[in-house]
Amino acid sequence: MRQARLRRREVLGYINSPETRLKISASQKGNSYAKGKHWKLSKEACENISLGHRGEKAWNWIGNIERDNNYRQRKSFEYAQWRKSVFQRDNYTCVFCGCRGGKLNADHILSFATHKEKRFDVSNGRTLCVPCHKATDTYAGRGQRRAKLTELKTLVHR
Ligand SMILES: [Zn+2]
Repeated sequence: MRQARLRRREVLGYINSPETRLKISASQKGNSYAKGKHWKLSKEACENISLGHRGEKAWNWIGNIERDNNYRQRKSFEYAQWRKSVFQRDNYTCVFCGCRGGKLNADHILSFATHKEKRFDVSNGRTLCVPCHKATDTYAGRGQRRAKLTELKTLVHR
């Protein structure tokens, strides 16, 4: 305590009188914060705090990430069947430019990523050649990126 008082005098240029020190002491009695940390959370309280920050309650939660699931679905047998049905219906002809054969893609009119229920709906598919497919608004996640960008822009301009 003596060291602390000497330091105080160095900084402030004076030492509090004994009466003042008694007053400060009296005012701090019962102030638990003045003692520093002397409490402990119970195990349950710790757990509750932890649970309250997991999953969708986490500050960086961005929703269910379905990338792996999407990949699995793209590789699935059902998907291959859907592709084939679309090609057969369109007679292996690009519905945009009318070219036949060559490298064809089965495009989802309503995007694969955002229209789950229409992923294997043949009426939601169309046959496109690669250049025509690349020109669509939803090619390779383009629609999603655009939506994300619009969202970001609204945030910036708020
Ligand atoms: Zn084409």
